[in-house]
Amino acid sequence: MSNNSKIWLSSPHMGGNEQKYVQEAFDTNWIAPLGPNVNGFEIDLENYLGDDVHVAALSSGTAALHLALILLGVEAGDEVICQSMTFSASANPIVYLGATPVFVDSEPDTWNICPDSLEKAIEDRITKGKKPKAIIGVHLYGMPFKYDEIRAVANKFDIPLVEDSAEALGSVYKNQKCGTLGDISILSFNGNKIITTSGGGALVVRNKELKDKAVFLSTQSRDNAPHYQHSSIGYNYRMSNVCAGIGRGQMEVLDKHVGLRREMNRFYQECFENVQNVTILKEPTSDYYSNHWLSAVLFESYEQREALRLAFDKENIETRPLWKPMHLQPVFENSPYYGGDVSEKIFERGLCLPSGSNLTNEEKNRIKTVLQQFF
Ligand SMILES: *Cc1c(COP(=O)(O)O)cnc(C)c1O
Repeated sequence: MSNNSKIWLSSPHMGGNEQKYVQEAFDTNWIAPLGPNVNGFEIDLENYLGDDVHVAALSSGTAALHLALILLGVEAGDEVICQSMTFSASANPIVYLGATPVFVDSEPDTWNICPDSLEKAIEDRITKGKKPKAIIGVHLYGMPFKYDEIRAVANKFDIPLVEDSAEALGSVYKNQKCGTLGDISILSFNGNKIITTSGGGALVVRNKELKDKAVFLSTQSRDNAPHYQHSSIGYNYRMSNVCAGIGRGQMEVLDKHVGLRREMNRFYQECFENVQNVTILKEPTSDYYSNHWLSAVLFESYEQREALRLAFDKENIETRPLWKPMHLQPVFENSPYYGGDVSEKIFERGLCLPSGSNLTNEEKNRIKTVLQQFF
């Protein structure tokens, strides 16, 4: 029997220099949630993203979304529009604030928020007496959403756009990096993302004042006084200097890892080349450049998808159904929803395949063998 160790969907992939930065944090005793690695990681991200953005390194992508909504003035009783097909972390911070999520369907090209359904949703909410306070769009699996179309709707109604770029660091839309497209954008460095700080996230904003405000909120909203003085509610959301050290090492290999993820996607395109009725999520036009964080595939039917998932499972290979749309989640069953059944249909038939930048040739062969035997 060949080696049958677990093949993961997406596991951390260290570049080599992470420990150097972490060691520096220990050597200088900067273990606290501030220090040279935090500043260094933020500068690395600002240089990478370009476009004069300002970055605040935080404890998670979810924390970044929470602060994004606070900075946009979302309060109890407000409504916030959110792409339905996404990870629950995109929507939860709306509820933390006592606001109501309004979910919107996907379109079939990028699987992300549908501009037509978005427009209908806004018009209807305004008719019902409430103009949404923000729109949250998500680049699922690294695929940029239809930015120009979504931006046009946001501008038409003068509603700010929050870009959930948790899965899309390294993706590009029309020569502009994902993470710089929103009025406010967020990134995640959770363990399974394209780069990781073991756990972490970032808020990306357009000016220094907003960044300073985010950092203030993320460090318990301490007023400038020798004692502890507070005139607003604070959060403990800053990234630690140890985690930021891992992030600095990871930034050195980000482009390389994007290349390897895209190579995994080409590997799957070849695997499915001669298979009927199977489609891989791919860029609709050359305006889109995905980091292909995860390679996601639509099968003929739910039954076929499940059979393949179990066939992989038997060989100790991890796969995962797509994000289950939020309007189908028990916890959000009372939230308004606009659209048809696009995301439901994609959810039913879709599967994410192992996509890590660290998969070996032997592991790829094991995956290919399962696919060849199945089809
Ligand atoms: C991972 C993820 C988040 C949350 O990031 P964390 O760092 O895990 O809090 C938010 N949105 C999407 C789409 C994600 O995939």
